Amino acid sequence: MALYGDKANVKLSNQPTKYQRLWSPGDKPNDAGIYKCQTCGFEDLFNRACDKVPPCSVCKEKTKNWKLLVRAEDN
Ligand SMILES: [Zn+2]
Repeated sequence: MALYGDKANVKLSNQPTKYQRLWSPGDKPNDAGIYKCQTCGFEDLFNRACDKVPPCSVCKEKTKNWKLLVRAEDN
């Protein structure tokens, strides 16, 4: 579960499908942010320079395991 300290700086997305897509290691992510492994629940950060989703560093799952949890907003 991702945590935040000031709810004035987070909001519910109006693009829910963006958060339903499953990403596999090797995919180029569309968005920077916090991703959650659907196999073990581990959360990790993929920054704007990330061009290949990594395998989960905890469970090592190799297919369709990441979902975007919190997207970093571009201004
Ligand atoms: Zn995992």
